[in-house]
Amino acid sequence: MNLVLMGPPGAGKGTQGEILSKKLGIDTISTGVMLRSAIKEGTEIGKLAEQYINDGKLVPDEVIVGIVKERLSKPDCEKGFILDGFPRTIAQAKALTESGVKIDKVLSLEVEDEKIVERLSSRRECSKCGAPYNVISNKPAEEGKCDKCGGQLIRRADDNPETIQNRLDVYHEQTEPIKDYYAAEGLLVTAKGEELLEDTTRNVAKALGLEEPDAV
Ligand code: ADP
Ligand code: ZN
Repeated sequence: MNLVLMGPPGAGKGTQGEILSKKLGIDTISTGVMLRSAIKEGTEIGKLAEQYINDGKLVPDEVIVGIVKERLSKPDCEKGFILDGFPRTIAQAKALTESGVKIDKVLSLEVEDEKIVERLSSRRECSKCGAPYNVISNKPAEEGKCDKCGGQLIRRADDNPETIQNRLDVYHEQTEPIKDYYAAEGLLVTAKGEELLEDTTRNVAKALGLEEPDAV
């Protein structure tokens, strides 16, 4: 399955992406994770992306389209993939279509703006592997430490109130129109992002038709 995950910042795309990745046995490709690791490594792309990200703006389409195309051409994507954070503009969606990559489903996680600010301030991320956590709704076994790699959990530089508002504006103006683009192709499904992780997971499974049959 070639899947696109979309939704406002903090909707839970990263977390649900990981869960789906395990369930479906395919990799999640997160442009946010890729860009942040480029920044950490100090690559040319990282240097270019840093200011945009910290201002809550989008990195230019041609930059991100190049990165994603290269990643999707790797052999492991042949068995399917989950795209998290791409496409984020109509131009990116069109570039993806034109590259000949077939998308099977687009899942939009729906969360109201009011909830986002609150959620993003309790969000944490592993400084080593990028795994997502939340100090309220998705705690690690040991405080401040990644369950997977033991890395230190940190708050992202762009998870501050001012930048969060910019990211929300950008989402509504530039990313949300993509829903219509994919709905017109009959690919769009939606799931409500709830307070509790398990509830969101259940909604996602239902939307994608991945539910386990009820025990009798
Ligand atoms: P979130 O969805 O929580 O805002 P991401 O980790 O997906 O976070 O993205 C963080 C930032 O990285 C974005 O605000 C943007 O600056 C940049 N970015 C990620 N993906 C894209 C993309 N497809 N196009 C442009 N910029 C992107
Ligand atoms: Zn980790």
